[in-house]
Amino acid sequence: MTLVYEGKAKRVFNTDDNNIYRIEYKDEVTAGNGAKKDKMEGKGRLNNLITSYFFERLAKEGVDSHFIERTSDTEQLVKKVTIIPLEVVVRNFAAGSIVKRLGFENGQTFEKPLVEFYYKEDALNDPFISDDHVKLLDLANDEDIAELKRQALIVNETLIKIMDEMNLKLIDFKIEFGKDSEGKILLADEISPDTCRIWDKETNENFDKDVYRNDTGSLIETYTKFYNKLEEL
Ligand code: 5GP
Repeated sequence: MTLVYEGKAKRVFNTDDNNIYRIEYKDEVTAGNGAKKDKMEGKGRLNNLITSYFFERLAKEGVDSHFIERTSDTEQLVKKVTIIPLEVVVRNFAAGSIVKRLGFENGQTFEKPLVEFYYKEDALNDPFISDDHVKLLDLANDEDIAELKRQALIVNETLIKIMDEMNLKLIDFKIEFGKDSEGKILLADEISPDTCRIWDKETNENFDKDVYRNDTGSLIETYTKFYNKLEEL
């Protein structure tokens, strides 16, 4: 099957069905727009299992996504969509770039979830952009922007609920959306510890890629611990 696209963490292949892609999760981890890069055996499996779980739970809560089914430890079938080059970030607590940029205290609670857009463009380092920039760049119109925010907030509520069941808190996350052949906006890409910040409710211990970004622990051990908690649900 022909390779359509290879990203930092996944490969996308065509299938016999013109409306379906096969995604393969790679054993690679990067941070800082590829500045830091490592191969980690088992990472593709963990992120595929975790993403599949989240997309299945989200579907039950009424949030459709590109996800069709998981077909192996490292592969899943998804609906073909054209990715909108936007990273939609939702933040419930201050951490990461917003702490550096705007001086919030690490871990500070936001009264209501904050939704932000980043322009998905490696050459520009995925810069933060306003709604007006989104329109100026012709990435989405007003109606699309409202829909992206609406879906992002439902994803947030669902993920908070799942994390809560695991005694964890959802600090923030990044999601991506695509448009299907009928122009419908569908949640796409992945939802995993690569794309979320997740802290233990009591100890604030990290269950996400920050252990790799900040060199504070083993990524595979951390993701395995997270997956084991998820399996207990
Ligand atoms: P920040 O803007 O603080 O760096 O990231 C906010 C949230 O979005 C974090 O949960 C982070 O993991 C996620 N995020 C932002 N940009 C990216 C990205 O390019 N790749 C991945 N995997 N996650 C991202």
